[in-house]
Amino acid sequence: MTQSHDAIIIGAGVIGVSIAFHLAERGLKPLILERKTVASGATGHSSGLVRMHYDLKAESELAFVSFSKYFTNWRERVGGECGFMRTGFLQIAKREHEDKLRGNVANQQRIGIKTSIITAGDVKKLAPDFLTDQFDFAAYEPDSGYADATLTTNSMLDSAKRNGATLTQNCEVTAIHTAGAHVTGVSTNQGDFSAPVIVNAAGTWAAHVARMANVSVPLETWTHDVAFLHRPPSLGTFPAVIDDTVNCYFRPEGSALILAAGEDESMRNEAPDAEDQTPTPNFLNNLIDNMVRRIPKIEESGLHSVHVGRDGLTPDQRPIFGAAGPAGFYLACGLSGTGFKISPAAGAGMSELILDGRSKTVDISPFRFERFAEGQLIKGEFEYGHIWK
Ligand SMILES: Cc1cc2nc3c(=O)[nH]c(=O)nc-3n(C[C@H](O)[C@H](O)[C@H](O)COP(=O)(O)OP(=O)(O)OC[C@H]3O[C@@H](n4cnc5c(N)ncnc54)[C@H](O)[C@@H]3O)c2cc1C
Repeated sequence: MTQSHDAIIIGAGVIGVSIAFHLAERGLKPLILERKTVASGATGHSSGLVRMHYDLKAESELAFVSFSKYFTNWRERVGGECGFMRTGFLQIAKREHEDKLRGNVANQQRIGIKTSIITAGDVKKLAPDFLTDQFDFAAYEPDSGYADATLTTNSMLDSAKRNGATLTQNCEVTAIHTAGAHVTGVSTNQGDFSAPVIVNAAGTWAAHVARMANVSVPLETWTHDVAFLHRPPSLGTFPAVIDDTVNCYFRPEGSALILAAGEDESMRNEAPDAEDQTPTPNFLNNLIDNMVRRIPKIEESGLHSVHVGRDGLTPDQRPIFGAAGPAGFYLACGLSGTGFKISPAAGAGMSELILDGRSKTVDISPFRFERFAEGQLIKGEFEYGHIWK
């Protein structure tokens, strides 16, 4: 017998669960269908950076609402824990990007984000072990940091369940059904489920899922290697950093480890189902070579572990949030390697789009799906170029 629900969310990553959380808060009883287990996709491999520096105001707004209304207020707003750790955040910019850095920081300050331009000398005070001769300025967000993506997802899920959402794991959606011009439900390996609203939050599998509704989503799989290094005992304090001059990002992981990854090492177009946890052959050597240009003491660290995650990447490396194809069908995918930190606000915006016809908490309309067909790819106001080279 077909079970009926108010909405079906395909995918129990942080995006699908956030949408379910917000729909359930509004009184709906959504069903989340997950082909494996909660956070088994990109979410469970996320580096968890929570910062607001983007070269696009609309993304900074999503990150700011997520930061100020959720991550720093998690227990009251959501319940449970998200593991937010305030480390501060530095965006180190290439010398030729100084004007862009200033433009982006000014945009972010207008939004209300606590951020400012600081000099290389100021960076040295924050992180005494950094070499600071290859750049002049950085953007600094004193209150940003990182959170635990799996914990974040699980606590939103617990809250959604308390409000009537349900989750079925090991349940793969294999078909999407329509009647006339409207979605009616899905088939899965555990039977059929019906709902007037279906949200495709299937991460890097989203193009495959969209095809089930005759929607073609331009998405490639982005493969990202991440290393955990033992923190050298003599290494002083340092914040979370995205360092465009040495093409990597890194942050403290608790007190004993450092999480680090490259910006130019990502493989493209693996099958979404690739499960391989072997990093690209030169990943570690290149990462360490790059990092010692900023932190010479990294030479003293040892490798703790490496993991490989995969996310859906769109042509403009910005997310897709919006309606697509048959009535009642929505896309929340293509998070392009930066979707964790915006997940709370994105879920709020998607729930409002579904229930009220437009987002209110934060404007998600710039991320509409039609932009690809119209050739209107998103460009940042002060664009640095693609994040992932
Ligand atoms: C290595 C790595 C590091 C990252 N670091 C950061 C960071 O520091 N900060 C940041 O903000 N973002 C970061 N990101 C990006 C962020 O983690 C992702 O954008 C975000 O987790 C995407 O969530 P999602 O819910 O869209 O996708 P996913 O977490 O991939 O969830 C999609 C789910 O859909 C399920 N699914 C697929 N097909 C079906 C089907 N047919 N039926 C049922 N279920 C299905 C999958 O099993 C999966 O669980 C990183 C990503 C990676 C990979």
